[in-house]
Amino acid sequence: MPTCSVCNKKWTWFETIKTIFKLTCPYCDNRQYESASSRKRGSMFALIPLVVLPINALLEVSVGTAIILAIILGLLTFGSYPFILKLSNEQEPLF
Ligand SMILES: [Zn+2]
Repeated sequence: MPTCSVCNKKWTWFETIKTIFKLTCPYCDNRQYESASSRKRGSMFALIPLVVLPINALLEVSVGTAIILAIILGLLTFGSYPFILKLSNEQEPLF
């Protein structure tokens, strides 16, 4: 779970999901940024559905099943995001 870099309070899973697009600390109201290493890992996570879809095509799964699988994977990725999210005080350059 992410820890606020200003007040050092650990965010819960639910608090992280609530603020996932703004990343404002629920305890001290400070704006937080996702650290560069965390963003790199996050983009790997986002690639998982893209890897699974061609496998679906190979296995000749119907489009409907593939879409449902992609949605489930997307939700799983979203739900596990608080576990890999690391916070930083300032916007870090990615490269
Ligand atoms: Zn805080």
